[in-house]
Amino acid sequence: MYDVIVVGAGFAGAVIAERLAKKGKKILVIDERGHIGGNVYDEKIDGIDVHMYGPHIFHTNDKAVFDYLSNFTEWYKYEHRVLGHIDDKIVPIPFNFTSIDELFGAEEAQRLKELLLLNYGADQKIPIFELLKSDDPDLKKLAEFIFEKVFKYYTMKQWGLKAQELDSAVMGRVPVVTSYDDRYFKDEYQYLPKDGYTKIFERMLESANIDVRLGTKSEDVLLLEDGAIYFEGERFLGKVVYTGSIDRLFNYAFGDLAYRSLDLDLIKVADTYQCAATENYPCPKEEAAYTRITEYKHFMIESPEKLSYIHIEYPKAYNRQMGDIAYYPIFTSDDEALYDMYLKVANNYPDLILLGRLAEYHYYNMDAIIAKALKVAEILF
Ligand code: FAD
Ligand code: UDP
Repeated sequence: MYDVIVVGAGFAGAVIAERLAKKGKKILVIDERGHIGGNVYDEKIDGIDVHMYGPHIFHTNDKAVFDYLSNFTEWYKYEHRVLGHIDDKIVPIPFNFTSIDELFGAEEAQRLKELLLLNYGADQKIPIFELLKSDDPDLKKLAEFIFEKVFKYYTMKQWGLKAQELDSAVMGRVPVVTSYDDRYFKDEYQYLPKDGYTKIFERMLESANIDVRLGTKSEDVLLLEDGAIYFEGERFLGKVVYTGSIDRLFNYAFGDLAYRSLDLDLIKVADTYQCAATENYPCPKEEAAYTRITEYKHFMIESPEKLSYIHIEYPKAYNRQMGDIAYYPIFTSDDEALYDMYLKVANNYPDLILLGRLAEYHYYNMDAIIAKALKVAEILF
């Protein structure tokens, strides 16, 4: 009856389903949650658009992704700005010239900015590990200061690892900026969907060629055995696009992959809580166990004047027995090796396609997983 079964109704699954339905394929999408949208799912609560699995800001340089999503939503311009609580000051993150002005005396700040301009040029994005390699003793000292104040403890809280143990690309996401540009992202397209993210998913999945079954785990309907796939007890000859965790798909046969999870405390407050949409707390855990606080009304063009909702993020180790959500794959070499063992088994199933943040064990932003899903949909049929 179905040409394709898609496990997971996040962006990976929804894009595949939408594209293939458009090609006339019959699709079944299942998701164990009671809603579509995966981690991007949002809800209006008391007139405020709350991202239920933590703040999601759309940004991309990929025009094709922006154009594709524009089929399902209108947008409004939103450029994300983040402030960091450093010592007794609140300064822009990524660390930029304003941050230097706020944290150093006028003369010293001027000298440091000139040194940065001389060594790296204007409006450059320098990964902290790059700056730490500087030959200039004053820039090296500045880099050590920024590392200590912005990255060291935040990273330990976020990942449970020392910054040096982590793939340098992760911290490279938040560079030091040699200008007064205080936007968190520099991408060309930075917008939020007018009616929220969930509406995008509703529109993507509304085709008559798509059935959606919520509250359904893959284990309830799918079986993978000796290179063959079974759906509800019968041999399934179509394709399965699986966007969940690969270790789960193969019953944790080689052990559990490591993930980082989060406790997200959603709190209703009586008045506006903070100045910026997101404020980071890169201090040691003893001073604040959370990494960042997001206040959703700052994402909106219009919102209730007083009432507000904030999310406080407490990173924690992932424990599947406790029902935690596997938010972030952790990229130690041991885990990459374990992932490859599972991948070898998956390769015995030619009609199984692994796609998405969990199935590919990859730290995808929304635009990147949408781009990947569009590419896969193109070559699948
Ligand atoms: P998911 O959204 O996780 O969807 C997977 C779906 O599959 C889920 O609904 C799950 O219930 C379902 N599922 C899994 N296994 C099974 C199974 N066995 N049976 C049935 N159902 C199953 N990206 C940005 O671009 N900007 C941001 O600001 C941003 N902020 C983020 C903040 C946080 C806290 C996190 C964790 C991520 C953020 N991201 C952001 C990344 C973004 O969430 C991902 O790019 C996107 O969600 C990936 O989509 P996906 O479909 O691969 O995964
Ligand atoms: N980071 C940090 N201090 C900050 C912000 C980010 O140390 O104030 C590091 C941290 O390791 C984090 C990484 O940079 O995991 C990437 O940050 P980003 O904001 O992109 O993380 P995400 O939004 O994906 O959680």
